[in-house]
Amino acid sequence: MLAFDNTEVAFRDKSDKELKKAWWLFRAVGKPAVVKLGSMVLHPALWLGIPVRWAIKPTVFSHFCGGESIDECEPTIKRLYDSNIYTILDYSAEGKETESDLDYTKNQILLTIDKAAGDKRIPFAVFKPSGMARFSLLEKVQAGELLTPDEQQEYNRVGQRFEEICTHAARMDVPVMIDSEESWIQDIVDGMVEELMFRFNTSKPLIYNTLQMYRHDRPGYLKRFITRAREKGIFAAFKLVRGAYMEKERDRARKAGYLSPIYPDKEATDRAFDEATALCLANLDNVAVNIGTHNEISCAKAVDIISGLSVPSDHPHISFAQLLGMSDHISYNLARDGYNVCKYVPYGPVKTVMPYLIRRAQENTSVAGQTSRELFLIRKEIDRRKL
Ligand SMILES: Cc1cc2nc3c(=O)[nH]c(=O)nc-3n(C[C@H](O)[C@H](O)[C@H](O)COP(=O)(O)OP(=O)(O)OC[C@H]3O[C@@H](n4cnc5c(N)ncnc54)[C@H](O)[C@@H]3O)c2cc1C
Repeated sequence: MLAFDNTEVAFRDKSDKELKKAWWLFRAVGKPAVVKLGSMVLHPALWLGIPVRWAIKPTVFSHFCGGESIDECEPTIKRLYDSNIYTILDYSAEGKETESDLDYTKNQILLTIDKAAGDKRIPFAVFKPSGMARFSLLEKVQAGELLTPDEQQEYNRVGQRFEEICTHAARMDVPVMIDSEESWIQDIVDGMVEELMFRFNTSKPLIYNTLQMYRHDRPGYLKRFITRAREKGIFAAFKLVRGAYMEKERDRARKAGYLSPIYPDKEATDRAFDEATALCLANLDNVAVNIGTHNEISCAKAVDIISGLSVPSDHPHISFAQLLGMSDHISYNLARDGYNVCKYVPYGPVKTVMPYLIRRAQENTSVAGQTSRELFLIRKEIDRRKL
């Protein structure tokens, strides 16, 4: 199995100063009280116009984000590519609701496609469905509730935004990944993405849906979709993730009295993730897969399968992805061994990106072992350099 503990490779482009900064940062986000206080104070302070940007931008923002604009991301894109790592520019606006905000987000995604076109350092664009629609509207549609005429028009505009992005992506030949969200809007998203896949994935995988493998209905969905795609002569393309909304999903199911869509334990999710990866890799003639995980074992298992397939490690239908500022030991070691590795590089004004940063901080506090693993690896590299 590929080992990911080569910290010299993992942190090759980090100066001693940057490493120390990362160490302090992970120490801080490992403390729930610091994260709670930071989320309670800094986010509202930004919206109230209290000058706290100076505290956020050089610390947590510069660690997890590429910049406030696409241009500001350029040094990060270059630095990653110098280590054979690709960038996926991720405009990180969340919770936007007004039509003008949603159009603004859509226009940002079009700009990321323009930036990626013809730039081999940026192989994908990405967007979040809830960045294109009012969340409660999607919820209403999925629940089968009747829409008012105004809402129907609003919903038509959501479809138009998806369509405009994908048509532009096809014209510019830039594959686009569509993130996955809560199960109570995901059916609607799946429906729209499937339609776009059947339209645009005829000669190559261009539109990628995302499957959250913590959902027990996803293995069946994946198998059925691969069969359908084969029958229709199109490429199925998926980003595989475990899923980010476990607590929320379970809470809602418990309160509303329906069966939770989430596997009962982590082992079952892990098994489903690895089996989905294996299934995609066994069907590379009509499936493209992006393995989106910070889990070393899942990455190592995927590498083992790829090695046994007698396909090149940088097969165009296989890629891995991690988030900027996390699990560099996985990204840099995979890239050194010739795999296609991407980093999601979030960008946007500090105020806009704040919910993303809070989620990253909370994730690093709550995911058992994640922070201690980052800290252990950074410490190991600091000590190695001292020697
Ligand atoms: C590049 C990239 C893109 C992403 N895009 C999306 C996206 O579009 N949509 C999305 O929802 N998330 C997305 N995520 C987040 C992802 O879903 C995970 O939350 C995160 O990556 C942690 O999972 P892991 O595989 O990295 O590692 P691990 O630490 O091995 O797994 C943690 C995950 O396992 C699952 N889990 C933990 N405990 C249990 C349990 N008791 N029972 C069942 N399952 C459990 C949960 O999903 C949890 O997040 C993305 C992540 C990456 C790296």
